[in-house]
Amino acid sequence: MSKQKIALVTGGTGGIGTAICIALADQGRKVIAGYFPPEKEQAYAWKQKHRADGYDFEIVACDVSDFESSQQMLLDVENTIGAVDILVNCAGITRDKTLRRMTPEQWDAVLRTNLDSAFNVTRHVVDKMSENGFGRIVNISSVNGQKGQFGQANYSAAKAGLHGFTKAVAQELAAKGVTVNSVSPGYVKTEMTDAIPAEVRESIIQQVPMGRMASPDEIAYVVSFLTDDRNTYMTGANLPVKAGLGARLFFGPGNAISLDGHRTWRYCVEAGESGVIFYTYAPGKRHLCCSAQ
Ligand code: NDP
Repeated sequence: MSKQKIALVTGGTGGIGTAICIALADQGRKVIAGYFPPEKEQAYAWKQKHRADGYDFEIVACDVSDFESSQQMLLDVENTIGAVDILVNCAGITRDKTLRRMTPEQWDAVLRTNLDSAFNVTRHVVDKMSENGFGRIVNISSVNGQKGQFGQANYSAAKAGLHGFTKAVAQELAAKGVTVNSVSPGYVKTEMTDAIPAEVRESIIQQVPMGRMASPDEIAYVVSFLTDDRNTYMTGANLPVKAGLGARLFFGPGNAISLDGHRTWRYCVEAGESGVIFYTYAPGKRHLCCSAQ
């Protein structure tokens, strides 16, 4: 019988992270959830709660935005449990502001936590994975890394950076039995999206063809597919899990989307290969602009 594989999920006690821990444990993995060090008490409570449900998760403290802290975490894990076979880089934060109002601190915090973290943690697992001839790395990006998002120049840049990171490292490790892929969720119901003002959240949901946010389990399932032992030929890929969000066909002639819930609307007049032509209407102003995107 082959040895039980060890999976480390950063941000493992968060909304999507928890679902990923459960999905990987259900797949027979030994699962370790990384948590942000100031949240020690909550992390122990999380561990207890899941133990009562039959999940024996390990937890490990680490600030993934810090290279040394990440190195220490991997040393601790290796010495006490064993080398990591599966890594899911899931920790992330948002600090939304339009660029005109964004501070260097907000930019740095988001880039360090969402993008530098992938380097900080992955850097310490690749040698052992290559040596062992097996590894699965999944980076949790976002649909906003591809389409951009108003008020999220920092987050969109970090998540787009993860795509480049994924593709480059996938090439470096392809011959070693180590696959590297990213998953780009659309909008998922977690504390992160609960923090969005209700009316903005509603307008987001209106733009999703399925008319709802994803549940964390729906993202976790895709991660478990990518990390499956049998998934050996897929690397450097990005899997969008977004219920058709942004698909051209959905925003076709005659369709309208609201930009702010109900006051400002975009009416599509034409959709083709090169983009969408639309008119924007706002209260008191019949016709704002006509553009392609
Ligand atoms: P949560 O806030 O629930 O989870 C994020 C986790 O990351 C938390 O456990 C958080 O810990 C942890 N974390 C934050 N900063 C650090 C740090 N410096 N070191 C270690 N851990 C840290 O959010 P989600 O579950 O929604 O998000 C998970 C991932 O999915 C993120 O990368 C996010 O960008 C991405 N995503 C989410 C979407 C959504 O709609 N929810 C959509 C697309 C992508 P703590 O709680 O203690 O701060």
